[in-house]
Amino acid sequence: MSLLNGKKALVFGVANKYSLAWAIAQELKSHGAEIGLCYSHERLERRVKSLAPEVDTDSIYLCDVTKDDDITALVQAVEKDWGKVDILVHSIAFADTEDLNNRYVETSRAGFLKAMEISVYSLVTLAQTFEPLMMDGGSIIALSYYGAEKVVPHYNVMGVAKAALEASVRYLASELGANNIRVNAISAGPVKTLSAGAFHGFRDMLSYVGNRTPLRRNIDRSEVAKSALYLLSDLSSGVTGEILHVDAGYNIMGMMEPIEED
Ligand code: NAP
Repeated sequence: MSLLNGKKALVFGVANKYSLAWAIAQELKSHGAEIGLCYSHERLERRVKSLAPEVDTDSIYLCDVTKDDDITALVQAVEKDWGKVDILVHSIAFADTEDLNNRYVETSRAGFLKAMEISVYSLVTLAQTFEPLMMDGGSIIALSYYGAEKVVPHYNVMGVAKAALEASVRYLASELGANNIRVNAISAGPVKTLSAGAFHGFRDMLSYVGNRTPLRRNIDRSEVAKSALYLLSDLSSGVTGEILHVDAGYNIMGMMEPIEED
């Protein structure tokens, strides 16, 4: 029997075929889950609709997580279509480019609040609104990054948002556990995607990190997806509030042997 037979999984954050959310949706589908795809803007609709047949779904919903009306309409539509939800994948983040390029100390109030609203509060509001539909229990994951723990140049306000996201995972896990809903996060190593491309020097970062992980390489999106399968299935039934590093071990290193740069 497939790991996720009969499970209904709502996936947020598919922008294109390179998105981590898309790799996760494909992995969940291949293990038996029914997939719903949520996208943020009308301009993405065509792209998401063209991907949807690959995961055999026509459950496609518009939801900008900054709009309460979108969230309310989404919950109503999902309740009508599915009656319940078992899995939520939160793969959403945003910060203004200038807040990533400038010094962190120069972050504007508006930029700070926007990054926190889209990248952190969205997890809280989605957990809040979908809790009643997770009547059989469930599993929620969010996507984080090492910049939550240590300073990574140009990650800036996004690092602060990821720290808050990881803390939110723990607070949500402690409360929703009473209803057998688990909440975890994957702290992924760098992978080239639309959002990642917005970071100044991302290619150099890939090369720097790839040279310094215990596995001597970067990760790929399928490795994030396989760990997501673990966290979203019964394989991890005793795990909640955890931040699982999928980063080829980068986070454990204090210092490497001297290496030659490529
Ligand atoms: P991505 O493909 O660009 O996905 C980011 C998604 O967030 C997009 O679908 C984007 O939609 C969505 N989003 C932004 N604002 C939104 C809003 N208001 N409402 C709903 N959705 C919104 O990039 P990704 O790398 O896969 O990112 C997914 C997650 O992984 C993020 O949390 C990111 O921080 C995390 N992560 C990525 C890496 C990496 O190296 N790639 C590493 C660690 C963690 P729009 O395109 O419409 O804005």
